[in-house]
Amino acid sequence: MPGFSTNAIHAGQEPDPVTGAVTMPIHPSSTFKQDGVGGLRGGYEYSRSANPTRTALQECLAALEGGRHAVAFGSGMGASDVLLRAILAPGDHVVIPHDAYGGTFRLIDKVFAGWGVTYTPVDLGDVAALRAALSPRTKLVWSETPTNPLLGIADIAVIAQVAHTAGALLVVDNTFASPYLQQPLALGADVVLHSTTKYVGGHSDVVGGAIVTSDDALAEKIAFLQNATGQVPGPFDAWLTLRGVKTLAVRMERHCDNAERIAEMLTAHPAVERVLYPGLPDHPGHEIAAKQMRRFGGMVSFTLKGGQEAARRVCAATELFTLAESLGGVESLIELPAAMTHMSVAGSELEVPDSLVRLSVGIEDVEDLVEDLRAALAQA
Ligand SMILES: *Cc1c(COP(=O)(O)O)cnc(C)c1O
Repeated sequence: MPGFSTNAIHAGQEPDPVTGAVTMPIHPSSTFKQDGVGGLRGGYEYSRSANPTRTALQECLAALEGGRHAVAFGSGMGASDVLLRAILAPGDHVVIPHDAYGGTFRLIDKVFAGWGVTYTPVDLGDVAALRAALSPRTKLVWSETPTNPLLGIADIAVIAQVAHTAGALLVVDNTFASPYLQQPLALGADVVLHSTTKYVGGHSDVVGGAIVTSDDALAEKIAFLQNATGQVPGPFDAWLTLRGVKTLAVRMERHCDNAERIAEMLTAHPAVERVLYPGLPDHPGHEIAAKQMRRFGGMVSFTLKGGQEAARRVCAATELFTLAESLGGVESLIELPAAMTHMSVAGSELEVPDSLVRLSVGIEDVEDLVEDLRAALAQA
């Protein structure tokens, strides 16, 4: 088996047999010539159903997650929508993390609930709470680990077993960890979901999503639904994502180095109330994260003693950390979840602390990042 970076650079990306091009070409063609009726060359017919650039990305992502099948989408939410349709029917129940990604919560609460799907938010770090939430109608446990934005950790091997005992599937949204830091299928998960917009693409220049699974029947259903509903990424988007993923391992190492250093600095800072980073020994999920992740990731959240006003001042004062939503790119970002990414969960059980600041620590020189944050924290 080739190593992670060998797969990132080569899986699904053989040099072009006609021209010898070393990088995967962008194939914008919407349709493909048939040699006689039904005589397809290489299986391509129409680009909603399949496209060679998209196929290359899918093969690469499947190899990186250690799955048999990957399906790429135009966004992480497009992938989530198709995955939920593939697994759930009216009357079914799903367990979601109590601090689920806001868009996932909105999709289930505002779209699927209208079709008769019920849900229970649970702290998946609490296995007894998960067991209590399961019923014969539960078809799916949706998990994120680390979670967004509280960086909670769930034990994937344990929750997979609990879900399976109840006859439910386990999906892991692996966006925060990336396949470099964590491979949920090997730990017992049935499906991995990505917003490839984040670490996989890694350069904040493309929106995309993916589903990876080794379940043949489920993969077939997902491909059918994708073609039936038309939720496909364009070939240029697939190509940009493929270009980004080649450097995933080196980028993640640097994200982790920088995040560890910033978490230490914040922990010692007098304006900071609490630092949430799974790499810190006092984080409640630290030991589980150490067991199932290669390192602890590039996301760091913290609360301020001065409440939301202080948090707003810090977010407004950084210069290198750009005030923006999203995460996982080479550049450092700062945001206030309660007023930005997680507005859609305000007033629900998923509400986040109002002084919480979330950092997506980029791969700039860490001394510059530390200095920028120190200067901003002086305004807290
Ligand atoms: C961004 C994100 C999504 C949604 O992905 P899009 O590409 O924005 O549609 C889902 N889950 C997590 C954890 C995310 O961060």
